[in-house]
Amino acid sequence: MISVTSLTKRYGAHTAVNDVSFECAPGTVTGFLGPNGAGKSTTMRMITGLTPPTSGTSAVAGRPYRQLPNPAREVGVLLDASAQHPGRTGREVLALSARTQGVARERVDELLSTVGLAGPAAGRRVRGYSLGMRQRLGIAHAFLGDPRVLILDEPANGLDPEGIFWMRSLLREFADRGGTVLLSSHLLREVEAVADRLVVIGGGRIVANGTKAELLAGG
Ligand code: ADP
Ligand code: ADP
Repeated sequence: MISVTSLTKRYGAHTAVNDVSFECAPGTVTGFLGPNGAGKSTTMRMITGLTPPTSGTSAVAGRPYRQLPNPAREVGVLLDASAQHPGRTGREVLALSARTQGVARERVDELLSTVGLAGPAAGRRVRGYSLGMRQRLGIAHAFLGDPRVLILDEPANGLDPEGIFWMRSLLREFADRGGTVLLSSHLLREVEAVADRLVVIGGGRIVANGTKAELLAGG
């Protein structure tokens, strides 16, 4: 599970994330919804230890991310897929992480085919990938260590409809097996099809938090 308690991030005079608290339970997909600039990425970067909070705390499976025994395997993370390893091929990206994480090499080709990157695409450099292909690779990377928790920032961005469809199925199956998912999007339709709960953020503050039924009933 993920718990976020009063997380705040200031950049100079600008408060990007303002006293944000929420929880994500095992077996559920939490949609983290808000317009561009709302503070979703900053919150996810704080949860995954990449950005130090100005104040507040967060924990994954009861501990700050960096204090997990094996964070790379316990938590699958996809943040800014456009930035990763342009000079390597898709297969190399996964194979290198498989080696550092102690994941069986066979898992790499299995995942490449799950996300639709088997065949020639796997041998091409990430530099030449479309955004959708980078998202596919990023999703494969997030699943690589057989994690219990997934933290995915805008994974549907640039994905084609077919990709969005299988990604939702993967996330649903993952949650139905007891996994915890935090999935961000700036589009309601990207999260409402798969999320059980919605945490809505605007201007750095939580503006709504509840089950999908609660939040979508009666507009
Ligand atoms: P979202 O992911 O919801 O689009 P972000 O978390 O990326 O939102 O950004 C929230 C706010 O924080 C925005 O106003 C953004 O410009 C600002 N911000 C994010 N990162 C930085 C940074 N490194 N320095 C200054 N401002 C930042
Ligand atoms: P490691 O080999 O230790 O996994 P990497 O440098 O491969 O380290 O990855 C650093 C971080 O970037 C990881 O946390 C991973 O989640 C993320 N990452 C790596 N490759 C990709 C990718 N293609 N798309 C999205 N995220 C990625």
